[in-house]
Amino acid sequence: MWQVVGHKWAVDLLKRALASERVAHAYLLTGPPQIGKRSLALNFAQALNCLDQEKPCGQCLACSKIAHGSHPDVQVIQGEGRTIKIDQMRTLRHEAALFPLEGRWKVYIIRQMEQATAEAANCLLKTLEEPPSHVILMLTASEAEALLPTIVSRCQVLNLRPLATETVQRSLQERWGVDAKRAQLLARLSGGRLGWAVAAGQDDAILDRREKHLDEMMELMGQGRVERMGYARQLSHNPEAVRELLHLWLSWWRDLLLTASGSSAGIVNIDRGGTLRVQAQRYSLAQVRDFVKALRAAAWRLEHNANTRLTLEVLMLGLPPG
Ligand SMILES: [Zn+2]
Repeated sequence: MWQVVGHKWAVDLLKRALASERVAHAYLLTGPPQIGKRSLALNFAQALNCLDQEKPCGQCLACSKIAHGSHPDVQVIQGEGRTIKIDQMRTLRHEAALFPLEGRWKVYIIRQMEQATAEAANCLLKTLEEPPSHVILMLTASEAEALLPTIVSRCQVLNLRPLATETVQRSLQERWGVDAKRAQLLARLSGGRLGWAVAAGQDDAILDRREKHLDEMMELMGQGRVERMGYARQLSHNPEAVRELLHLWLSWWRDLLLTASGSSAGIVNIDRGGTLRVQAQRYSLAQVRDFVKALRAAAWRLEHNANTRLTLEVLMLGLPPG
């Protein structure tokens, strides 16, 4: 049985490919972080190498080895220090030429392909151009546009979308035993990214960090230029934190927009509804909308390699006063 939550169309497509023995040699799974790309790729690797009739059974030796990362023919490759290096792709190329040891297929899952250096990407391209008949490459990336067009054109692209909030909430409760109230909050906060919701359900530090970041934002709204510039400077040293913070701020200001326009049913930060209502009265709709735009613009610029500190400084100065 396929274990993937949601993404039914993608599972169906892969099932059909398996059933008709027309599996592509390369797939590219795209979508936001923690949406289920790696889970889908691993599940497909199980379906390809499963020893049972009902593939993937999840029980046989092959399925369980793949689940535990110990199957010799299924490898997950990811960046070392946020970079996929040419040596990793060279090793892949050499190993891919050899026949599978235990399974029918050799499956290489390459995570966050956008982290590959130009040399690494070009090296992989050679494997993609003439893949050995027993090899399947599963690439993942946030978006196809971040990769070389020559790589994308050799892959079947499956663009995964965020899951419905209800789907996330239900599976948190049913599969991971999270209580209803917490599951509802996590599902809203996740923006349809089940991987994030599950991680946050198991690790309190994630929600604690959100609390801290929201409190810092409230505080910053009451502060002046010097404090805001200082915050931007301090934050700019940690790109991972910047991404998370922008995502959080955007969720907050979108919630304000919803609250101010009287449609608070869809808000994300349901545990802070009171503060949202107070702030929604304090700012004009135009003010809120402008800051949402500024947040989106900042996120876009950072994705496209703008100067982090400068971008954050501009954003912090634009944060409406408390
Ligand atoms: Zn199996």
